[in-house]
Amino acid sequence: MGKRVVIDTIACTGCESCVELCPEVFEFDKDSEKAVVILEEGGDEACIERAIATCPTDCIYWENS
Ligand code: SF4
Repeated sequence: MGKRVVIDTIACTGCESCVELCPEVFEFDKDSEKAVVILEEGGDEACIERAIATCPTDCIYWENS
C-alpha cells in the first residue's frame, strides 16, 4: 500500500512554509490563500517530513492510498 500526502485546508493558514520547503509537492493557491498538494505521491519524502514537522498548524499528514 502506498501513501499520499494531504493538507487539511480548513486548518491551513497559508503561511507558505511547506511551499518554500517542497515546491514540487506544495503550491500556494491564490484564490483560497491556502497551500494545495500538487504531487500527492512520489515526492521527496524527507522534504515532506520536514514540511510536516514545521507546519505551524500540523495540517499536513499522510493517508494510505
Ligand atoms: S505549512 Fe501548513 S499552514 Fe503553512 S501553508 Fe503549508 S499546510 Fe498551510
